[in-house]
Amino acid sequence: MHKNRINILGTEFDNFTEKQFHDQLNQDLDNQENKFIVTPNPEIVLSARENTRFSNIVNNADYVIPDGIGIIKGANMLGTPMHERITGFDTLMYLIKTANQKSLKVYLLGAKPEVIQASANRIKKEFKNIDLVGYHDGYFKDEEKIAKEIEEKQPNIVLVALGSPKQEYFINKYRTKVNAIWIGVGGSFDVFSGTKKRAPKLVQKLSLEWFYRLIKEPTRIGRMMAIPKYLHLIKKTQKKNIIKK
Ligand code: UDP
Repeated sequence: MHKNRINILGTEFDNFTEKQFHDQLNQDLDNQENKFIVTPNPEIVLSARENTRFSNIVNNADYVIPDGIGIIKGANMLGTPMHERITGFDTLMYLIKTANQKSLKVYLLGAKPEVIQASANRIKKEFKNIDLVGYHDGYFKDEEKIAKEIEEKQPNIVLVALGSPKQEYFINKYRTKVNAIWIGVGGSFDVFSGTKKRAPKLVQKLSLEWFYRLIKEPTRIGRMMAIPKYLHLIKKTQKKNIIKK
């Protein structure tokens, strides 16, 4: 695919519409391609700046999609606007629906035991054509054992929710064992299983989902301090660009 990437503070994002991205994934699934999707938000962009190993993995993924309005805002401020926000959660839903339509094999990894169990139950109930070949919570000791199981089951899609950068390290290490679509989905199973609610549609439309999450989970404040720092760095880069011009 033609690569049209936009650099935001060192992370190279794909700039396509959600529809184009979905068409591409559809094709990848039909061709049994091996693909790795990462979904950075501002916090992840900042952590990639401080961690070369992580940054190399992110920038070598097949698809780097802008999860979070902060990325779209940053792109605008830098004068390199992007088509639209594409969230990890919506990508997870698209992959699950498509797996159901095509009767594909899916493996789920990550989140707390009760969350992954509830996610597996939802798939069995609502997406009956999916062949759920296995699932495991994200608090395991023997990583090799899990990787072996995934290899044996040969899923078409592997959904990994271990948080960043753990999920990206895991995928990067084991992806060559199975030709699948591999994606790090962060806290998506918490929402998918119904354990946590996503913000109401209006709040999402107003781009205030971050604020909703903060009210629900005030302990996220530390993590959210990444946003002002991120905006500050964007402004600094903006100024540098003006001087260069
Ligand atoms: N998690 C896990 N194993 C770990 C650490 C985290 O399975 O060792 C899970 C955790 O239960 C949660 C997800 O990883 O479901 C990460 O959640 P977070 O809120 O950090 O995700 P994000 O904000 O990146 O979407």
